[in-house]
Amino acid sequence: MGRRSAWKKPGDCEMMDAIPFVDSHIHLYEFSVTDLRKLCENGYVMLAVSDDIPSSFKTIEIAKRCRGVVPAIGIHPWSIRGEVDVKPLTDVIYGGSVRFLGEIGLDKLFTPETFEIQLKVFKEFVELAEIYKLGISIHAPNAWKEVLGVLRKSGVRVAIFHWYTGPIDLLKEVVDEGYYVGVNVAAKVQKKHAEVIRAVPMERLVTESDGPYKYKGMLLEPSLLPELVSLIANIKELSEGDVKMIVWSNFSKILKAVGASV
Ligand SMILES: [Zn+2]
Repeated sequence: MGRRSAWKKPGDCEMMDAIPFVDSHIHLYEFSVTDLRKLCENGYVMLAVSDDIPSSFKTIEIAKRCRGVVPAIGIHPWSIRGEVDVKPLTDVIYGGSVRFLGEIGLDKLFTPETFEIQLKVFKEFVELAEIYKLGISIHAPNAWKEVLGVLRKSGVRVAIFHWYTGPIDLLKEVVDEGYYVGVNVAAKVQKKHAEVIRAVPMERLVTESDGPYKYKGMLLEPSLLPELVSLIANIKELSEGDVKMIVWSNFSKILKAVGASV
């Protein structure tokens, strides 16, 4: 054996520390000031999503003072209870400082009663994403097919299907369209989601926490990302270093495609 065998594989060596963990979906504005300060110093790269107009403005402010944060603005389907005016957000997008929309989408599982109005608002956001070439972070429990249908008719090229729990055959269609799939730390306890990890090709996978969120006794937050990387590595039969590197490479491509940076 040559001398090279004594070396660790790339991705398992010191390089691994230089590659950040990626949290492609986090509600940063919901964390306490103390926790937020810690998160801003952990060296992670985070796509910080919003839930409504006030939280969109909070998220923009956080991104100005927190390292590694890309802000996303939007109105969560759960926040839509009647007519919604997206104009305040349109003005921000027009200003050019925000390159991502989220958390936006459709929800037929938890809030089916507002589906029609959700669809109207979602289409407005998709149109904005198309015009300004923005990326989007999607929420779509039981409405994955409907969301994909809207996106296919649009010119939106950069979308992350956050915490995908839809059918596996539809997942293939999502991936074939060139969209990304956010896999969540909940996969540790949610078998169906672990199946999604198995099915999604590495080049379309990004990691996320959706923190702070309680799920089956777990508090979902970025500190669980190393465990998620380890779980993905096991499922995909890769080293943790390689998983970390591929996820970072995917996320870098996403940022580049929408003209965002950290
Ligand atoms: Zn979320």
